[in-house]
Amino acid sequence: MTNDLIEKSKKHLWLPFTQMKDYDADPLIIESGAGIKVKDIDGKEYYDGFSSVWLNVHGHRKKELDEAIKKQLEKIAHSTLLGMTNIPATELAEKLVEISPANLTRVFYSDSGAEAMEIALKMAFQYWANSDRPEKQKFVAMKNGYHGDTIGAVSVGSIGLFHQVYGPLMFESYQAPIPYVYRSETDDPAACRDQCLHKLEQLLQEKHHEVAALTIESLVQGAAGMIVMPEGFLAGVRNLCTKYDVLMIVDEVATGFGRTGKMFACENEHVQPDLMAVGKGITGGYLPIAATLTTEKVYDAFYDDYENLKTLFHGHSYTGNQLGCAVALENLRLFESERIVDHVAEMSTYVSAQLNELYALPHVGDVRQLGFMCGIELVQDKETKTPFAFEQRIGYRVSLKMRELGMLTRPLGNVIVFMPPLVSTKADVQAMVAIMKEAIEIVTSEAFHVGV
Ligand SMILES: *Cc1c(COP(=O)(O)O)cnc(C)c1O
Repeated sequence: MTNDLIEKSKKHLWLPFTQMKDYDADPLIIESGAGIKVKDIDGKEYYDGFSSVWLNVHGHRKKELDEAIKKQLEKIAHSTLLGMTNIPATELAEKLVEISPANLTRVFYSDSGAEAMEIALKMAFQYWANSDRPEKQKFVAMKNGYHGDTIGAVSVGSIGLFHQVYGPLMFESYQAPIPYVYRSETDDPAACRDQCLHKLEQLLQEKHHEVAALTIESLVQGAAGMIVMPEGFLAGVRNLCTKYDVLMIVDEVATGFGRTGKMFACENEHVQPDLMAVGKGITGGYLPIAATLTTEKVYDAFYDDYENLKTLFHGHSYTGNQLGCAVALENLRLFESERIVDHVAEMSTYVSAQLNELYALPHVGDVRQLGFMCGIELVQDKETKTPFAFEQRIGYRVSLKMRELGMLTRPLGNVIVFMPPLVSTKADVQAMVAIMKEAIEIVTSEAFHVGV
């Protein structure tokens, strides 16, 4: 049975972000999960050290979430949101508006973070067209940004490894620098921040007449390697967007729903975006729901007689799905009753202390963390910050070793990702960091000695 399934998976599947040659060498099929662990078809258990790719909040098979889906299922699984609505989608919209930055009052649903970003881009673009400013068509994107894998989202993304090959398919956008303190010339967060803000201002000064919006991840660039922006940067970007009349699209897909110790990361800097994309943690990691939130001002630019052609012509078959919205509502109820955001904020210092011990290892160059969003950058040489060579696949090999030792995660190049479910306790964190430490030690010493 086990081998049969593995054979089937190798024969018929094509997995996302996966070189299938790697999968064929190290296949894995998950059968079940409970709490912060998942179990494969051989019965081996693993800590879900990356929250099943940055989604999970309360652990797996959370009773209340399971019940919410069953209860909704007794009424209806899905009906459309085109021209009508349903009960959980309506209630969830009210809830989302209540917990998000005060200026955001409208909710547009979709099924994934990438779609939520696509919708934000189209809203921003059409906002100016509907407002008799059709010359504002361009976007400013941040260097190393990641907003999902559909073509629009890729066009405002700039991670060479993922995006370069699709260059000819993308629309062009302007690129602004992002402060990456560990790899900056100055090493000084404030100087690094000010330099980048200065360059952004120069760009906006020159181009703002043709710029519809700027896209930016909220406080942490996730896929780029968990790069935490220095204090004041996001707020600085907000000020420049306001000054130059450019809409600010903030991507909270990874950082939203408690991940960084606030409900949304932009709260850390009291930033109110014009558009905000959310996804991932919105359903506690259960079902594919995402949303684009915006202001009454943007919404009003679309509100008119049909003949005036201001409608937002965008939607997906499963937009506003009842099962997804029902579990999202229960998820948000649990956020309150189980004080999840406070828990993450309280755990943050402990996580930081645990991770800082990794600096004792000879190849740990930088540890970056905000709440339960963490990345450990491995380097060949700590003094010079020389990276491990691409071919060494150090992150991948460490993650495979961690899998062997009982914990799942996926690396970002030479950065080890640590994003445990938000309910993880001190004991859980300690156990997971111990696995991470052992794996890094084993793999980097191998890499060093054979000099591959
Ligand atoms: C994961 C992610 C996305 C894309 O979300 P999907 O649901 O995978 O399409 C967009 N932006 C950020 C910051 C993300 O981390």
